[in-house]
Amino acid sequence: MKMYKSIGSPIRPLRLFVGGVHGKEYRTTKLLFEKLVKTSKPKSGSAIVIPCLYMGRYVSTLSSNYLNTKACKRLVKIVKAFKPDIYVEVHCYRLSSYSSLTSLNRINVKGVPPLIEIENGVLIGSISPLLKAKLNLNIPILIETPCGKRKNFKVALKILRVFLMANSTQEALEALGFKHEVKNI
Ligand SMILES: [Zn+2]
Repeated sequence: MKMYKSIGSPIRPLRLFVGGVHGKEYRTTKLLFEKLVKTSKPKSGSAIVIPCLYMGRYVSTLSSNYLNTKACKRLVKIVKAFKPDIYVEVHCYRLSSYSSLTSLNRINVKGVPPLIEIENGVLIGSISPLLKAKLNLNIPILIETPCGKRKNFKVALKILRVFLMANSTQEALEALGFKHEVKNI
């Protein structure tokens, strides 16, 4: 597993970016994160970027089965080791899933709030509640970009850079225009 580290002095805030959380999503997140680390680094504090957490079968992070996967065990170890101040998990989605991911009815169907489109098909929300409880993180962020769609990368990179430069998740969310909805993310 490749891990890019940019360690500042002082070390904090420490941002952790993770992609390739399940299935073949790493194909997209690898491209995206490699571009991110080549083109930007935080002005202060640190960033750890993991373009591909695990190459394995797809298990939804909303399913309790995910907690038993090697991917999840690896993620728990990493989070415990670094104790990130800012956590951003990047996923990719098929365009056919767009409506179910963003539907207001998602809370009734999947038990989780809908994702919000920031711009050009790039969505934001909170990570799986199961994972959130397991990782014990404050406002862990989930970003979804369409799988393999390089034309959306520009927007996705712009958003990731906001988190890379921000000193807190709250600050990044405000920069993205979420002033009052922060608690609902
Ligand atoms: Zn995913």
